[in-house]
Amino acid sequence: MRTVLAFRTILPTFTYHRPSSLAELLELKAKLGKDAAILAGGTDLLVDMKMGVKRPSHVIDIKGIKELHVLEYKEGSGLIIGPTATLRELETNSLLKEKYPVLWDAVRKIADVALRERATLAGNIANASPAADSAPALLVYDAKVELTSINGSRLVPLREFFTGVKKTVMKENEVITKIIVPEPPAGAKGEYFKAVRSAEDLALVGIAALVANPNNPAERVVRLAYASVAPTPVYVKEVEELFKKDEPLNKLIKEAVNIVLSKVSPISDVRATREYRLHLVKYVTAYLLRKLLGVK
Ligand SMILES: Cc1cc2nc3c(=O)[nH]c(=O)nc-3n(C[C@H](O)[C@H](O)[C@H](O)COP(=O)(O)OP(=O)(O)OC[C@H]3O[C@@H](n4cnc5c(N)ncnc54)[C@H](O)[C@@H]3O)c2cc1C
Repeated sequence: MRTVLAFRTILPTFTYHRPSSLAELLELKAKLGKDAAILAGGTDLLVDMKMGVKRPSHVIDIKGIKELHVLEYKEGSGLIIGPTATLRELETNSLLKEKYPVLWDAVRKIADVALRERATLAGNIANASPAADSAPALLVYDAKVELTSINGSRLVPLREFFTGVKKTVMKENEVITKIIVPEPPAGAKGEYFKAVRSAEDLALVGIAALVANPNNPAERVVRLAYASVAPTPVYVKEVEELFKKDEPLNKLIKEAVNIVLSKVSPISDVRATREYRLHLVKYVTAYLLRKLLGVK
């Protein structure tokens, strides 16, 4: 039997809210709970609603809340990204490009300019797709997510935020009010590798790699994180510990690749087979590490 995914051409009925302050948003969320979906760029939410995957009775559009439109860097404490800052605003920010190259590289590889003009970083994270391109980049910078409800705010490390496919630790009455990206390690460089079949594709595999002080084991930082290889984005914390060892880099790279392969569990789907994803993880991880660590 063939399964056909039916796309509606019109959205199901819902009540539209457009609060103008955070206080108003939190009151609405407290009152409506899981019946209300937050609308940022809408590039995930409206597609899910048209496909009937999500059927909220209320949609709360947060784009009119001025205090949530933040993109601010403070030397020493890092970058604060509000939930209505668009991907395009991040991509065209020269400070982000210079100080957070892995995040910049990941953001500019999401879909196309038209979509990035609408879509937000918070939406990419809140949607909790295993293929979210910004997640591995944020994981290697050890980003934190501020979740706020009518009862107050809490900071959750992104490394503890995702719990499954499209699942997070966010409670029904909470919203993302900030993404905080700490100051990167001094001298850090890195990139985001995205394997795709065509320009606007989701990642077959996404790999974020960040390296600092490659020649000094005591100060060396090597961080790797992955998209599309497990039910959640994956940060491989054991790699960071491994590269503190004063051993030949070639040996450490081989060990790192084996550790990564033991931590990922990709599936076969319409975009790629499990075997092809594992192949990409193995060879591209080694390639990125050699390149960033300066190993021939
Ligand atoms: C054609 C197309 C191509 C795409 N290509 C890519 C790609 O290459 N890479 C990729 O990673 N993604 C891709 N996406 C997915 C999507 O564009 C991104 O995930 C985008 O960043 C979502 O942001 P948004 O602001 O549009 O989120 P929305 O659709 O507004 O929201 C997404 C989800 O997050 C929730 N949400 C939003 N903001 C908050 C908040 N502040 N607090 C709590 N919950 C919140 C919403 O309720 C919803 O459940 C693509 C989508 C389309 C349609």
